[in-house]
Amino acid sequence: MRPVEKWNAGDPDGASGQISHSYIPHGSAASALIRNLGYFCSYCEVFDSNPQIEHVVPVIQDRSKQYEWSNFLLACSRCNGADNKGSKQVVVEELYLPHLNNTLLPFVYLEGGKVQIREGLSPEQRRRAEKTIKLVGLDKYPGNSDYPLHNPRDKRWEHRRKAWEVAKRKLSAYLSGNLSAQAIAEFAHQKGFFSVWYTVFRAHQAVIRELIDVFEGTKAHFFDENDGYSPIPRGD
Ligand SMILES: [Zn+2]
Repeated sequence: MRPVEKWNAGDPDGASGQISHSYIPHGSAASALIRNLGYFCSYCEVFDSNPQIEHVVPVIQDRSKQYEWSNFLLACSRCNGADNKGSKQVVVEELYLPHLNNTLLPFVYLEGGKVQIREGLSPEQRRRAEKTIKLVGLDKYPGNSDYPLHNPRDKRWEHRRKAWEVAKRKLSAYLSGNLSAQAIAEFAHQKGFFSVWYTVFRAHQAVIRELIDVFEGTKAHFFDENDGYSPIPRGD
């Protein structure tokens, strides 16, 4: 899950104004959110030309946060849908969230479109990671026994798998000198799935640098450039 730095109320909004504490209706926050975070789902990371404004704490749980900028992220309709995050109860401290934590740390991305919890986490970290993954259904794919009734319309795993395959092909082209780091990052930015690109190109720091540069909201200081751009813990 791609970590992002959200702007705060009072910060420049990327156009000619400032971020407000609240947006009424909440849809009026869309353009500022997109300038801040790009056209990507905050959870599955797919490129989405029309992302939904996602209430991190659902409105049904806390009406006071309905219009609050700090409670918004962007999400695709699948992650935000009733079969996934929807209006489920959220305790922020029990989750890893992309605007608060370095969400590259608790999860690993694998060939085949799978997302798993990283080995070596403490039991408490593992619980948080597990809660997060189940809340948005990031581990939903056909054949996962946790979900015997996989919704065939949930293709997020398949899009991730394809992103992985494309990234591997781009890696071959990069290694044979036929593609620049910048061209790869620009291509990735049109497709989404930052975490897949980051994983596949992990050994190639010039590409990682370009990826961090081109994906809105993802910052160089989330990474240790002296340690292969490994993710640095944040907010926890
Ligand atoms: Zn999504």
